Amino acid sequence: MKLSRILSNRNGISRSQANFLIASGRVTVNGAPCREPASEVDRFAQVQVDGEIIQAGEPARYLMLHKPAGYLSATLDDTHKTVLDLIAPALRPDLHIAGRLDRASTGLLILTNDGQWSRLLTEPRVKIPKVYRVTTAGPISKQTETLFAQGIWFEFEQLTTSPAQLDVLDTREARVTIYEGRYHQVKRMFHAAGNRVTALHRESMGDIRLDEALPPGDYRPLTIQEVCSVR
Ligand code: URA
Repeated sequence: MKLSRILSNRNGISRSQANFLIASGRVTVNGAPCREPASEVDRFAQVQVDGEIIQAGEPARYLMLHKPAGYLSATLDDTHKTVLDLIAPALRPDLHIAGRLDRASTGLLILTNDGQWSRLLTEPRVKIPKVYRVTTAGPISKQTETLFAQGIWFEFEQLTTSPAQLDVLDTREARVTIYEGRYHQVKRMFHAAGNRVTALHRESMGDIRLDEALPPGDYRPLTIQEVCSVR
């Protein structure tokens, strides 16, 4: 929301008074004076006028969960356990998932209440690498690597996937790096290569790697460095 709007939403402050207060340097955002009425200020920022708190600023939450198999990447479901069931109730309000994993998939899952931040992490346009360890039903063919590098036509979305990297680790084991996060993307890519994924584990998203100290079902807050690595 614009800074002038935050002030003028307060009883007794008109829009022109708000603009005057801001221009005269009496308004701070997170402790620093801000003289631009049109500045976009999110709900996590603290806003003060002459030292009086106008907006307290909600705490932003960023969590890394080691998702176990069998949990739905959703915040509410009538029939299945969801990943939110693994999070302490006090931390749950307003959390959403930044990049879902299928119910059977495991590994790094990020939950946050900061929508602007999570969009940077998940928007295909931003091209953050997501790395998966994959086990397949059949042997991984030589052509799979070329196919993934060329991109695969997804009929439903009417698009070709961005070039992806395949590192074959064993006959039926590989590490795949994709730069989008489309519905069932990795499974559909292997399907297009005539194979089938039997296990899928996300190791990292950008510079955020699943913490090896976290057993399945456990979570921890992201460090400041991890949060700031998404830009
Ligand atoms: N691609 C898939 O097919 N499934 C996931 O859970 C994540 C990526």
